[in-house]
Parts: sequence; structure tokens; C-alpha cells
Amino acid sequence: MVRFLIVDMHTLWLFGGAAALASAGALVFLRSLHHPSTNALGLHALALALGGAGLVVAALAPEGVEPVAAASADAMIAGSVMLACEAVRRLYGARPRPVLLAAIVFALVAGCLGFEATRTDAAARVAFTSVLVAIVSSLTAVRIARARDPAAEILRHLLVGAGFANALLWLLRSGLAVDALGLPVSRIAPADALDVAAAALLVLMPAIVTALMLMAVHARMADELRALAATDPLTRLLSRRVLFERGRPLVAAKHAAGQSLAAMMVDIDHFKRINDRHGHATGDAVLRYCARQLRAGSRDDSLVARYGGEEFALLVPILRAGDAFVAAERLRHRVSHRPCRVDDVSVPVTVSIGVAILQPGQTLEQLLAEADRLLYEAKRAGRNRVGTLEEPGGRADLALPVV
Ligand code: GH3
Ligand code: MG
Ligand code: MG
Repeated sequence: MVRFLIVDMHTLWLFGGAAALASAGALVFLRSLHHPSTNALGLHALALALGGAGLVVAALAPEGVEPVAAASADAMIAGSVMLACEAVRRLYGARPRPVLLAAIVFALVAGCLGFEATRTDAAARVAFTSVLVAIVSSLTAVRIARARDPAAEILRHLLVGAGFANALLWLLRSGLAVDALGLPVSRIAPADALDVAAAALLVLMPAIVTALMLMAVHARMADELRALAATDPLTRLLSRRVLFERGRPLVAAKHAAGQSLAAMMVDIDHFKRINDRHGHATGDAVLRYCARQLRAGSRDDSLVARYGGEEFALLVPILRAGDAFVAAERLRHRVSHRPCRVDDVSVPVTVSIGVAILQPGQTLEQLLAEADRLLYEAKRAGRNRVGTLEEPGGRADLALPVV
């Protein structure tokens, strides 16, 4: 006999119950961390609390009421697995099914009470609850197997595995499965190694599933934070930080390949007046309008970022220097000629653009500073124009058609 398998079952249940109750308490706090997962984590906390209480009841049942305590504990633990299955389903976007859940819980409680009232052998009740749990657990695993979680597919696969493993464990627990294996049916018989191993795994399963669920939520939070940090929340354009993160390797690659790259600094003309005349909310809508036009008017290989308040920066791969002026002219034209309507009010919007071409040995910072200087020139020259050192009139097949 392996030493670690010599465990008193009641102690095992007591420790398992205490651990589940402690995890439920922790989850009650953690569930508010990630808004979209609140319901799933809350349900799982409830499942842990119910299962933990069931294990404690089983462990501490006083003499004389053991059959009733065993039946109650059985119903509570099986019910907690059903709740946990519902929690996992919800974590993967399944819609709530309160009626079905209530029906299953009713079948569980009624079944347990029924077996207890008719004084059938406890093994029959254990078989009934176990098979019910095994069915729900495998159906949940099948449902999760069909879901998608771009944040952490591996965790989803592990939860599918845990669902099927759980179903097998409960089948093993059922008197039917144990009987079929030719092993003792009675649950009251002294625990043998298989009993203890199965019980230990059943007690461990809530901890395993809780850890997987929390890791899945954590992976989603990390993904969302990365996306938030990468984009400007108002315009959904790249943030200034990401422009530098992605721009530096782009500049290095263009230097290495001897190819051209243009930087454009775009600034809305007299934006303060728009804010003053129409209010800050309209100002925000104008910023979103400009962002949309700049993104839609640029090719996919351009980096388009919100650089500051009402300033945008673009890094545009080009074939020759003159192309940059044409591309910038198209963007300027697009912003000023398309209707910018906010709450049925048409707001006239123009932008000034500074265009600089990457010079040999130039850094991204120097390139953007040059574009900023040319933007200032465009402003000084009267706004609503493109400031550039290059000769206008390059190839005209770069950007979207002028409309
Ligand atoms: P110019 O043509 O010289 O660029 O003039 P301007 O009024 O556009 O430039 P100025 O720098 O004087 O004003 C920019 C204004 O942009 C001031 C600031 O309140 C406003 N602003 C900055 N960020 C936001 C924002 O996120 N939302 C709104 N509504 N306004 C903003
Ligand atoms: Mg401005
Ligand atoms: Mg400005």
C-alpha cells in the first residue's frame, strides 16, 4: 500500500470542504475584477460554497443521523457540480438556462429524498446522483469544446478535459460502475485505495476547475489590457506609445531595404473654436470623424495613430518621395469634403498636414520632428494645406480616389 493513500475519508472531506469554502470566499472578492466574467465567477463561488458545505456535512455528521447527512451531503455536492458546470458554460458565453438548471436540481433533490424515503441501499442513491452529474459534466465538456477563446485556447482544452475526467470520476463513484468493475458496492465499507483515490480526485477537482477558470479570466483581462494600451479609447486609432513601438522597427526595415517611408503629422484647424462653438462632446465626435477618414483613406500597411489632443501621426510606406504629397493631399481633401454631421449639425472640418520623407540615418523621432516642423509651416501659410519639402506631383495611384 502506498503510504499517502492511507487517509481517513472524513478528514479528506473536511479538508476538501474547508478548501472549497475558502476558495468560494476568495472568488466572491475576485468576481468583480472582470466585468464580463462576473456572473460565471459568482456562480462558481456559489458552487464551491455548496460543495464545501456538503463535504463538511459529510465529514462532521453526528452519530445516528448519518444516512440523512449522507443523503444531504450527496445532494449538495452533486448540486454544486451542476452549478459549477453552469458557471463554466457561462464563462464561455453560453446563455443562462435557469429552467433546465432548476429541473436538474429538482430531479437531484427529489431523487435523493425519494431514495432515502424508500430506504433503498445507499449505493442506489449514489449511483443515481453520480450518473446525473456525469451526464451534466460531459454535456458541459461538449459545449465548451465547441466554444472559442482567443485569449487562452489551452485553458479551454484543459477545462474540456477536466469536464470529461470529472464525468468519468463520477461514473466510477457510482455503484453501477464500481459494481461493473467487480469492486465492493457498499459505500459504508472501509475505504480501499481506489475509494480514496477517487474521493481525493473528487475533492481536488473543484480546486483544479477554479484554477483553470481564474487563469482563463486572467488571460482575457491581459488581452483586453493589451488592446486598451495599444489603442486610443476615443478614436480607436493606435496609441502614441504603439506608434513608436511599431514605428521603430519599420524605420529600421526601410533603412535596411533602402525603401521610402513618409511621416505625416495631421492637426485639426482651429479645433478650439469647434469645441467652443459646439461643445466638447461635438469636439470628440469630430475627432472620431477625422480618425475614421484618416484610417479609411490610408492603405492597410500605414500606421495611423492619435499623437496628441487633436493631432494624428501616420507612417506611410511609399515608392518615391512625391507620392507622399499626393497621399497627404488626398487625406486633407477627404477630411474637408466629406460631411461631418454631429447631431444633425454639419461641422466644417479642415486639417493641416506636415509631410517628411525618411532620410538616410534618420531616427523615427527625427522624422516625426521634421513632419511636425512642416506642419507648423502649413499652419503659418494659412492652414488647410500640406506642408512638404518635396516637389508636389508624384504618382497618383497611392491612396483611395478623391471624392
Ligand atoms: P490650430 O489651427 O492652430 O491647430 O488651432 P487649434 O484650436 O486647433 O489648436 P489649439 O492647440 O489652440 O487647441 C487645441 C484644442 O484641442 C484645445 C483642447 O481643449 C482641445 N482638445 C484636446 N484634446 C481634446 C479631446 O480629446 N476632446 C476635445 N473635445 N477637445 C480636445
Ligand atoms: Mg489644431
Ligand atoms: Mg494641435
